[in-house]
Amino acid sequence: MTKLIDMRWPWLVAAALLLLVFVSTFFEVRFPGDWDTRPVGTVEDITALAERGDLNVLMLTIDTLRAERLGVYGYERDTSPHLDSLAASGVRFERHLSQSSWTKASMASLWTGFYPSRTGITRYDGVLPEDALMPAEVLRDAGFQTVGLWRNGWVSPTFGFDQGFDVYQRPIGTTLPANLRRENPTLSERGTDESLVEAGLEFLRVSGDRPWFLYMHMMDLHEYVYDADSALFGSKSSDLYDNSIRWTDGTVGFLMEKLAEMGQLDRTLIAIVSDHGEAFLERGIEGHARRVYRETTEVPFLLLFPFRLEPGVVVKTRSQNVDVWPTLFELLGIETSEGSDGRSLVPDILASARGEEPAAEDRIAFAALDQNWAKRDASALPTVAVVDGPHRYIRVQNEGGDLQEQLFDATDDAREVRDWAATDPATLERLRAIADEYYQRKPDWGESPTREIDELELNLLRALGYKIE
Ligand SMILES: [Zn+2]
Repeated sequence: MTKLIDMRWPWLVAAALLLLVFVSTFFEVRFPGDWDTRPVGTVEDITALAERGDLNVLMLTIDTLRAERLGVYGYERDTSPHLDSLAASGVRFERHLSQSSWTKASMASLWTGFYPSRTGITRYDGVLPEDALMPAEVLRDAGFQTVGLWRNGWVSPTFGFDQGFDVYQRPIGTTLPANLRRENPTLSERGTDESLVEAGLEFLRVSGDRPWFLYMHMMDLHEYVYDADSALFGSKSSDLYDNSIRWTDGTVGFLMEKLAEMGQLDRTLIAIVSDHGEAFLERGIEGHARRVYRETTEVPFLLLFPFRLEPGVVVKTRSQNVDVWPTLFELLGIETSEGSDGRSLVPDILASARGEEPAAEDRIAFAALDQNWAKRDASALPTVAVVDGPHRYIRVQNEGGDLQEQLFDATDDAREVRDWAATDPATLERLRAIADEYYQRKPDWGESPTREIDELELNLLRALGYKIE
């Protein structure tokens, strides 16, 4: 057959070659960042952002993104060329913790700036009450158009996450396009992040001149979606996850290119965050929402200004998701009420940009989870991680009150394999007392309400791959 084409139909081969040239020009693979037309900015431009008054805010949440799987966080595989390139002209927080390994608990903390013990959002039926002050409410009151687009049922209006949004929607997804693979067979979410991006761009086309706040919660990585071009890393579960990061990275690159084309990139403050990571049997556990070890709680945080920083800034002090909104509000010059468990990272950014010593001491950070969050009839099985410098203290409190404790020291053990609980009693005792204090913090708004969730909705949540009993 090949011979036939080669020898007898040379014009066909020529036409095919021409077509190939045309196609490859049309779908030119652009080097990440080629489209980035933002001006170069200075440290002074960062402090002057609060005076601008013309800024938009984009919060891009990439569900299930483990920091160390990104090139810019030191991964050896080329999973994230676009994110790496964006980080190189913005701010990257090197040691950033999410407040839980389960979407709902984690996002409740990210939005409110409260640790899970203070949001009270620890069970499958917990709802953020009206008393919770959500950033979208603050921004709406400050004159922003507020739009939330999401594909994860745990952040649905059912659980109070729509507060402050003019529009808060799950874009209508089609069935999975034929060129895409979705590797987790327990999942049946419709659509992909492409429908999310299309909906976001459609909003921007009609948004006019009023500042906007757009929250996009991407889910393809949670479902290990990828295509042939991103299938670079193999076929084991952990490899498929990397394929999906590569695919998702391409979606982010596409979105950024479109923002640039629409003239939005040089007047938008962009936060790229995640709600938790993913485990691959490092300790016999897979996935997330089960424990709070480093695999599922060390996440990326990238901040992009409406200008490029050359070189980009790396903040090395400990930061966490409860710090994200205090930071964004300070950058925007918006005063908010005190009382957050987080703090603004602006002083850290400025100090790092100027090459000075860190602006603040390394802080203690927390991640927590009720391991029984999905069991309707079981009582709580709380676990907490206390992160203090190189130490990470993990404990699970059994029903009888027994504590299972582990103590890791990342100084010479980056993967946190060796348990020092029996050999470093002084540190163990100190962090145990801090964990006790953590549980003393209760929600300012009293008990969080719960909601009766019907079978249909439970099945939609089960479609995300969680077993709710
Ligand atoms: Zn999640």
